[in-house]
Amino acid sequence: MKVNLAVYWTGGCGGCDVSFLELGPNLLGVLSRVEIVFWPALVDTKREDLERLPPRSIDFALVNGVIRTAENREMAELLREKTKFLGAYGACAHLGGIPGLANQAHGILESVFGPNFRPAPPIEGYPEDAPAQVLFEALPLEDVVSVDFVVPGCPPPAGLVARFFQAALEGQISLGQVFAEEKALCEECPRKREERRITRVARPHEVLLDGEKCFLDQGVVCMGPVTRAGCGAACPKAGMPCTGCLGPTPKAGDPGLAMLSALASLVRAGEEGEAAFPEEDKILDGFVDPIGTLYKYAFAKYARSLAQLTKRREGMRA
Ligand code: SF4
Ligand code: SF4
Repeated sequence: MKVNLAVYWTGGCGGCDVSFLELGPNLLGVLSRVEIVFWPALVDTKREDLERLPPRSIDFALVNGVIRTAENREMAELLREKTKFLGAYGACAHLGGIPGLANQAHGILESVFGPNFRPAPPIEGYPEDAPAQVLFEALPLEDVVSVDFVVPGCPPPAGLVARFFQAALEGQISLGQVFAEEKALCEECPRKREERRITRVARPHEVLLDGEKCFLDQGVVCMGPVTRAGCGAACPKAGMPCTGCLGPTPKAGDPGLAMLSALASLVRAGEEGEAAFPEEDKILDGFVDPIGTLYKYAFAKYARSLAQLTKRREGMRA
């Protein structure tokens, strides 16, 4: 018997929808075992088709993209109502993703939509008569509906997508499951770790990198120590540091705080045993774009309270 599948794209780049092609010939095997009941990017299905379906008639729904507009939120709620197992597919739905970085500067909406822009009502507390359809903040999927499982990544790598389909087709998905490892990426990365000491923080194009050595040992911030394994260390193997798209390990929790703590323990300006402050502070001063690096995909999820605090403070000043 086939399982019913829905896939929906909210505020994202489309890369997640394309990522299914990475399954290669295996995609044909998957498609022969699923009945696509709703997937607007692939087959001509409309919102009305979804509305006509009975509650909980879809076995699995995969939502990719961040929740950025009132329509995104409504579609997520509708899918939740119609689906038995609903998953966040990709870093945007999982953590807010790169679009979630917009929450750093709420003025971004005025600069794009003009000075009279007013956001649509957010989840709670915003005036009901606000006219526009864009939400005040970009939200991860879990902020608007309950999420049963996560297929992480930007976009999810083929191996994890295959693991999801295998579990789904065998009825082996458990609530809260994340289709990645609990261990850190460093544990599956082949780069050699030696020095454990940073005297300079640099971006990849600023240093002549050794292709065998750990990025951190070369002063380049790599999110491997706090990020879930599961991609086979694809980026470090291809010459780029990990940027954290599979999300933090359960042990790391907040990825930015955990990585900052790891970096602070590696910074060392003077010789062994020598007190080197304040030079050590200056090393981290050279860290360009700390939010974009430490929270590239997770700002909307982990810095939400900071954004709300700022909003409240701005309200108090006005
Ligand atoms: S997770 Fe990455 S690939 Fe998927 S929609 Fe977001 S930005 Fe695009
Ligand atoms: S920090 Fe990055 S480069 Fe170093 S071992 Fe971990 S994943 Fe590999």
